This record gives sequence, C-alpha cells and structure tokens, in this order.
Amino acid sequence: MAELRLYNTLARRKEPFRPLTAGQAGIYTCGPTVYAPAHIGNLRSYVFPDLLKKLLRVLGYRVTHVINITDVGHLTSNEDTGEDKLERAARQASRSAWEIAAQYTQAYLDDLERLHIEPPDHLPRATGHIAEQIALIRELEARGFTYRTADGIYFDTARFAGYGRLARLRVAGLQGGSRVELGEKRNKTDFALWKLSPPDARRQMEWESPWGRGFPGWHIECSAMSMKYLGRGFDIHTGGSDHIPVHHTNEIAQSEAATGEPFVRCWLHGEHLVLGEDQRMGKSEGNLITLGEVLARGFDPLAYRYLVLNSHYRKYLTFSWPALEAAATALTDLRRVLWEASDRSDTGAPAEAVAEAASDTSCSPREEELLEDLCDDLNTPKALDTLWTAFRDPAASNAEKIGLARYADRVLSLDLFDFSPFQERPLELPGGVGKMIVVGAGLEIPEVIALLVQAHVLARRAKNYVESDRLRDEIKRRGYIVRDRGGDHYEVEPARPGRRS
Ligand SMILES: [Zn+2]
Repeated sequence: MAELRLYNTLARRKEPFRPLTAGQAGIYTCGPTVYAPAHIGNLRSYVFPDLLKKLLRVLGYRVTHVINITDVGHLTSNEDTGEDKLERAARQASRSAWEIAAQYTQAYLDDLERLHIEPPDHLPRATGHIAEQIALIRELEARGFTYRTADGIYFDTARFAGYGRLARLRVAGLQGGSRVELGEKRNKTDFALWKLSPPDARRQMEWESPWGRGFPGWHIECSAMSMKYLGRGFDIHTGGSDHIPVHHTNEIAQSEAATGEPFVRCWLHGEHLVLGEDQRMGKSEGNLITLGEVLARGFDPLAYRYLVLNSHYRKYLTFSWPALEAAATALTDLRRVLWEASDRSDTGAPAEAVAEAASDTSCSPREEELLEDLCDDLNTPKALDTLWTAFRDPAASNAEKIGLARYADRVLSLDLFDFSPFQERPLELPGGVGKMIVVGAGLEIPEVIALLVQAHVLARRAKNYVESDRLRDEIKRRGYIVRDRGGDHYEVEPARPGRRS
C-alpha cells in the first residue's frame, strides 16, 4: 500500500503521515466567516481537505473532520481594530447579525454540497462555544500569558518561546513600532483574546465574562473548538496560506501556552486562487465570483472542482472563464469515455462490466499508480493524468477503464459515472443512420437544430465545406455547438454564455 506523504508547513517539507492514534486521523479546517457569500477562491480551500479525508479512508483510517463557522469576532482589520464583520454586514443590511450568520452558513453548506465536499463530522459555531473560549482564556491567564488593556484581554507573545515558528517570523524585527501603532499593546504581535464591548454601545452579539461584557477574539475560537472535538493535540490542521503569519501562528501560541503540549502535528496550507489579471481574489478587492455565478453561466459545479483538482493545492490557480470552460469540456470527455465504455463493454453487457469492476477489491497496477499520485501530497494533476493516460490507451479494456474510474472517484468525487448529460438520437442519413449525441442533462434539442445538423453533415459528406461551415455558424448563431466525433457521430451541445469562440 502506498505511503501517504504530506507537505507540513511547520517543517517546510513532505513528511510521512504518522497519526497520533493508529488507524485514526483528526483534521481541523478553518471555516468561513459567514457575513457574505463565499467566493470560489474561498471554496477552493475546502476541496483539498475533502480529498485528504477521502484518501485517508481509502487507506483505511477512521477520520474525524471539523470545520468551524466564524460568526463572531472576526474584525475588518488584522490588528484587533475595526468593526466585527458580522455586525457590519447586519448594519448594512438592516438585519440581525444572527440572521446574517444563519443565511450565509446555509449558503456555505449548499456550496459544499454542490462541489461534492462532504460535510464535516462537526461544524461548531464560535457563538455556540463561548464558554469553551472563556475557559481557555482563563487557563492562559492562570499561566501568566495575558494582560489587560482598556479594550480587552491580550495574549503576550513575548512570553511564548518560539512565537512565529510556523511562519518563520523574525519576531525581533516586528516588535518595533511607535506607541501610536502599538496602542496599549506590549508587542506588535500581541493579539486580543477577549474584546470588551464599548462602554457606550451595545453589540448584537456580546456575552458576560470574568473580564466584563464583550466577545471573543477571532483566533481563540479555533483553539477552543479544535481541542474540544479532536483533543488537545491532534493530527492535521488545514487552511489558506494567508492564515500562516497571523491566525495559525496565534492558534499555536495560545494552544501550546495553555496546554504545554504540541498542538498540531501537521499543518497543510492551500494557495490562493487568482484572477486572470493577476489579482488576489479577496473580498476587499471586490472580485467576487460566487458558485452561484458559475451555475448561472450554465456550468456544472463539478467543472469547477475539476479545475481545482487540475492544479496542485499548494500552487496558485489562475481562474478565468475559458479555463473553466476547458475544465468543463475535460470532465464531459471523461464521462463520455465511460459512457461509451459502458455502452459497448467487453461483454456487451454494460451492467456486468460495471459490477465486475466494483466488486474487484484488489488494486490493479493503474489503480496503484493513481493511489501513489494521491499519496504524494495530494498530487491531483498527476492523478488526472494517470486517468487520462489509461483512457487514451487503446490496449486498456473497457472494464479496466471503468474499474480505474470507480477507484479514482472515491477520492476525486467528480461524478464520473453521471451519464445524464448524454442522450443519443438517430440522425437520418442517406445510406445509413448516424448518431446525434446531445450533451446537456434533460435537454430537448429543437427540431430546427436537428435539421440544421443533418444538413451540415450532408454538406460535409458532399465536401461542400463552404456550405457545411455556413450551417455550423448558423447552428452556433442559434445557441448550439456541433462537433464531428467520427464514425457518423455528431455531438450537439448548447453554447454557454461566456464560452470561448
Ligand atoms: Zn481558524
């Protein structure tokens, strides 16, 4: 069996995965701040933990996965100043912060489902774990790691040896700064554990605490909730690379200061999605592309999953609509190969070939190779390549392709056996019947399009290319694309808005 190796940000290298408890794996993933719809860049960072979880299961582990919901305490500035993102969104929408949180938590879960990201075993909300956060701050207080300012309780980073180890921060260089910048903070890297509500104003979300009425800082929730569900030390923590210098650095400091034990063994970080113009996709830049927009443009959401899998999670992924179009085409092509393989399987009985492949528990050499790809720090581009190579190999039998795809889809979750996009219609041609393959689930091709396709095919046969091109353009003008797939098979697909050429 292949050995799982993961790139651990703490060590800056790939390391063999060694769980704390044999046969079990605990994973914590920093979840969304639920004040707005997630954009596709946010969603990318939940795909790789999903792959990891499914791969660990294939390898025989029992996995516990936690994703938190940040519904309080995440301020608009990383410096413990600025407004709470939830309170601000509520004010702007003239609604309650609780309603905003409920709405965008549900939207997030809907997005996960569309992308075939399995829901976690635990989905704790920060507002549902105030007592746990207060208890953890009290532990830090008892151990002398906290101090009080006019606006809250802060963590004294100078007291924690090894602060900034994850990010390889040169802390000494960071600690300068004018009194104004520091405010009442002792060190620039210190961060709020508990913020006091302003004496003159009431927040929508606030709680009584030993230090006064207020709300938890953003970082403390992830320490309190991960330790509650996974134990005081656990195996894997994932998040976006932007979490390394502040959020995860602070999580380690406060967790290890409280327990005196190592917090997380392996830290995995996903890289950002960038837009074609080379802009990081952050909400602050206003470059919001949501999964809703992907759907509105006629894409299968799994085409986005394919696009994500086609880049390694630690590499920047440049998003553009043509790149998504190419991913959609590739996914359709993979499904088509399987559809055709199931249609004309070796035994002539598709159901048998599929059943045979599914019941085979041994690992074929190709399945072994695919597993090796995934075990090499989730090398999904390589895994897709292994799949494609098998699909293109004339020596590969249909049963082999089906078996490999079934194996791959346990981790990739691309619905490779979704044949609903394909319908076959006879195409009346002189001297025989061709096939018109309609791509698009539940799609009715208008009769006029079917007639134009037939005329296009006849013109091609007559080598009247001027006419056949004209007819193809006419079909396109009416919103459809026709492709010659050889052997009197013609494929017809509706053109998506924003589609290339
Ligand atoms: Zn977190």
